[in-house]
Amino acid sequence: MIKSLHARHHQLADHQRQLEVLENSIFDSGQLPTFRKKIESLGHYPLRPSKIEIFQVNIGYMCNQVCKHCHVDAGPDRQEIMSPETMQQCLDVLSRTSIKTLDITGGAPEMNPDFRWFVSQGHQLGVSEIIIRSNLTIIVSNPKYYDLPQFFKNQGVRVCSSLPFYNAGKTDRQRGEGVFEKSVQALKMLNDVGYGKDGSGLILDLVYNPVGAFLPGDQAQLQRDFKKELKDNFNIEFNNLFTITNIPISRFLDFLIESGNYEDYMDKLVSAFNPAAVSGVMCRNTISVDWQGYLYDCDFNQMLGLKTEKRASQHISTFDVDNLERREIVIGQHCFACTAGAGSSCQGATI
Ligand code: SF4
Ligand code: SF4
Repeated sequence: MIKSLHARHHQLADHQRQLEVLENSIFDSGQLPTFRKKIESLGHYPLRPSKIEIFQVNIGYMCNQVCKHCHVDAGPDRQEIMSPETMQQCLDVLSRTSIKTLDITGGAPEMNPDFRWFVSQGHQLGVSEIIIRSNLTIIVSNPKYYDLPQFFKNQGVRVCSSLPFYNAGKTDRQRGEGVFEKSVQALKMLNDVGYGKDGSGLILDLVYNPVGAFLPGDQAQLQRDFKKELKDNFNIEFNNLFTITNIPISRFLDFLIESGNYEDYMDKLVSAFNPAAVSGVMCRNTISVDWQGYLYDCDFNQMLGLKTEKRASQHISTFDVDNLERREIVIGQHCFACTAGAGSSCQGATI
């Protein structure tokens, strides 16, 4: 109990520290316009949802990897895991609303002991689409996970996996020694059961994010490069490549501060602000749920402890889709990452 209170206190202090970095400094001094000012000038403030279509559930922060850019600050030592009772509350919401997509994330969601039960219950419920955000290496990390590709196939889920580059150098620099080789093994196992193969109906998407303090390149061009390199060198196939801009929070924020790149990176995001990307930000059609059932506008706000607007509902036990669709979305300077260049979301570029 004392240990968990201590962890909670530590987490709150860390949220506070990150928010202070983001809200003060260059924005406070007027050097850069705030995100609110930017969207206000376009008539988008307050930012409101369109329709909730994606129910993104973070079932735990435990992970077998400790990637440098991780916005979750996930790792093997994280103990926060969603209980089956909270999962059931999520399933209840899905059964009484018309939300089409269940998007399961983590950490490594497969490490939650009730992961398979949750996925199969979602499948039985007839949810139109179930997305699993798998880091790939979990599949080859332990024999108990070797059958995950077959399990995914049986449940008809869509697999979405991070791969920052098509070679070992850049991938391992961001995600850890040996990660590229293990990712290739896992991709082959997914291909073997049909994932990423034409005509199989089994979708395997990859997610690319830059390895440093810069914006992602053109999504279509990167997809062509990844397809060619992975096919030529490893005989691997996949469906779509999604580019994601690194969000200046958590470990990536620490990296920016420690490397002296924070101001430069924020300046890049603000300079690349694209008015056309505002209406497509993912918080407008997504709701994020944490391991305890609290609700957030997106996974990034979840990591900053910024819950959904109080009067709309802040917990799965009081989930009210009508109220939530009328809510005011909580924004901050980190939102500039979603509106830079071609826009960025868990589904890739938004424009
Ligand atoms: S980025 Fe993904 S794989 Fe890496 S530590 Fe975070 S949750 Fe785990
Ligand atoms: S960071 Fe979250 S709240 Fe901000 S624009 Fe992006 S999705 Fe929306």
